[in-house]
Amino acid sequence: MGALQGDCPATINVVMLGPPGAGKGTQAERLSRTRKVPKISTGDILREAVQSGTAVGRTAKETMEAGSLVGDDIMIAIVHDRLNRPDAHCGFVLDGFPRTVVQATALDRMMADRGPLVVLNMVVPEDVLVRRLATRRICRKCGANAAPEACGKCGGTLITRVDDGIDIVRERLKVYQRQTQPLVEYYSKRPTFTSIDGNRPADVVAAAVDAALDAAIGAAGRGVAQ
Ligand code: ADP
Repeated sequence: MGALQGDCPATINVVMLGPPGAGKGTQAERLSRTRKVPKISTGDILREAVQSGTAVGRTAKETMEAGSLVGDDIMIAIVHDRLNRPDAHCGFVLDGFPRTVVQATALDRMMADRGPLVVLNMVVPEDVLVRRLATRRICRKCGANAAPEACGKCGGTLITRVDDGIDIVRERLKVYQRQTQPLVEYYSKRPTFTSIDGNRPADVVAAAVDAALDAAIGAAGRGVAQ
């Protein structure tokens, strides 16, 4: 383990872990830009599928609106295909996957020969999460998390996400506790796992994310067991 992909200058394989509203998407977006690897958000992929009415979208729509998790088999197939696209050859930032131990085990299998997996676990208290999600607005056109007036990315108008209603937010947090929180235990013994306090201004969190990523890559490069 730990070998770089032959023709990649550096391999950056990142999983952003954490509850809904922890800031995974924001940090993943930034890492994707600065480290030049694609951001792979399973939530975005599913929302696109729902919008374009594909078979996956039709299956996922009600599950997502109820705040539950889409089936592991579908999610694993989606991520497997996405990681095999050429732009993910030298790495990726995963946002929203894995969300269950079954998905994490499948991801470990996909990582054979791809270099180490860095897991950044964003920690934010529940009352802060509820507040953030209840006031979150996204762009109607491109789905980006956005500023108060219009989407800074494409200029589209802003809407509240269907699953950001207060009852669904509480359900999503429960689902996180039950199905995704066990991943902290699953990954925590690895030297490439770091927990980050996400309850700080975005630029302070960003600096902590960068430092944790560089330290994890360093640890992996020194051949510390994965
Ligand atoms: P959040 O902002 O709550 O982290 P996402 O945008 O990542 O939400 O995902 C929205 C919804 O899409 C989830 O509540 C879930 O229904 C579905 N989903 C996304 N990723 C996964 C996954 N890896 N496994 C199962 N369901 C998923």
